[in-house]
Amino acid sequence: MKRVLITGGSRGIGAACVESFSKAGYKVFFTYKNSKEKAEELALRTGAEAICADVSSFEAMKKAALVIGNADIIINNAGISQIKMLQDITEADWDNMFNINIKGMFITVKTFLDNMIHNKWGRIINISSMWGEQGGSCEVHYSASKSAVIGFTKALAKELGPSGITVNCISPGVIDTDMNSHLTEENIDELTAETPVNKIGKAMDIANAALFLASEKSSFITGTVIPVNGGIIM
Ligand code: NAP
Repeated sequence: MKRVLITGGSRGIGAACVESFSKAGYKVFFTYKNSKEKAEELALRTGAEAICADVSSFEAMKKAALVIGNADIIINNAGISQIKMLQDITEADWDNMFNINIKGMFITVKTFLDNMIHNKWGRIINISSMWGEQGGSCEVHYSASKSAVIGFTKALAKELGPSGITVNCISPGVIDTDMNSHLTEENIDELTAETPVNKIGKAMDIANAALFLASEKSSFITGTVIPVNGGIIM
């Protein structure tokens, strides 16, 4: 049974991944930072194991690895966003964004990579964003961190291909999760109208793409950015 680690699995896209990978027969471990109750409920419901670990801390992820053991598949999903104009972004905002959204991926992969290399098999799936491809106004630090995820993915794919490990990115469009709870109904209507399929996405849309990338069916795909965005970026 393949073992999958999902960072930030307590809510939203990560939680949808926990549900779908558990249902598909994987042994699922997921991390969270604050949402203890939600994480415990999800673990109980799916049979997955929840571990409280801040993805931006090497020490916390090393401790998590003592519980998790090895992972064959990593879904680097944990992330934060923030809406601020550049002049209002503080140094602490900037550092926090990069520590969680991109350093967290470096820490997670570094912590769990040895076993994948040893097995000559692995899947690393990183969650970027359409704003990492296009740039979002008032989200410069978020957009820059998500562009960094794409660079990280492409470089690591070249490095790990010879070891039988694929590294890919999913780039979600607008997905209905807590991350977008600041949007008004009017905002959602506008975004829906801008999206060719005339709806915003569900967390499960991203989980479905992750399931494909984790499977044998994707073995010739690496270093790519897979947009799951309803066509909002063509
Ligand atoms: P969400 O609903 O806000 O959930 C974020 C998850 O990340 C939560 O489980 C949270 O755990 C976890 N997390 C945050 N900081 C963490 C940390 N330091 N250590 C460990 N876990 C941490 O967000 P989402 O919409 O599902 O987003 C998931 C990913 O998709 C993010 O990388 C986001 O940038 C990306 N994305 C989302 C959208 C969208 O429209 N929703 C679009 C493009 C890309 P706790 O609650 O326990 O802290």
